[in-house]
Amino acid sequence: MAAQDRALQTKYYATKIWNTETDSKCRLCQQFDETMDHIILACPILAKEQYIKKHDRVCAQLHFNICMETGVQLDKKQWYEHVPKSVETSQGSKVTILWNQQIQTDRTIPNNKPDIIIRDNEKGTCMLIDIAISGDRNVIRKEAKKIVKY
Ligand SMILES: [Zn+2]
Repeated sequence: MAAQDRALQTKYYATKIWNTETDSKCRLCQQFDETMDHIILACPILAKEQYIKKHDRVCAQLHFNICMETGVQLDKKQWYEHVPKSVETSQGSKVTILWNQQIQTDRTIPNNKPDIIIRDNEKGTCMLIDIAISGDRNVIRKEAKKIVKY
């Protein structure tokens, strides 16, 4: 919560605003200034595990909500208990929801594994969802990257 509200005492802040520190480098990686954006989104040490966990939990919550909206029967009643299955089908087989599945394409696409695919079996259409956890400053760049990727 403190990080979201930008109320953490970062070393960058202590160096530049309060002048209580002389070194503004990140306590974990020692490479970049320890700013709020760095801690939340860009630290290479945290990227290895914590960012993947965050991404996967956001995906799982979205998957849960999509299942609820499309009439898929779920074992759990709360999103935080939900563990997505590879394939979920709504009652009456109107919609199929695929989790982390590779898509077959006519030409080779290096990244062809979106986080979630919603296949409308009546219309014969698919919606691909690939999630990025991004800071406000990075949204446009991340969005463009995802569009190019698919
Ligand atoms: Zn760092």
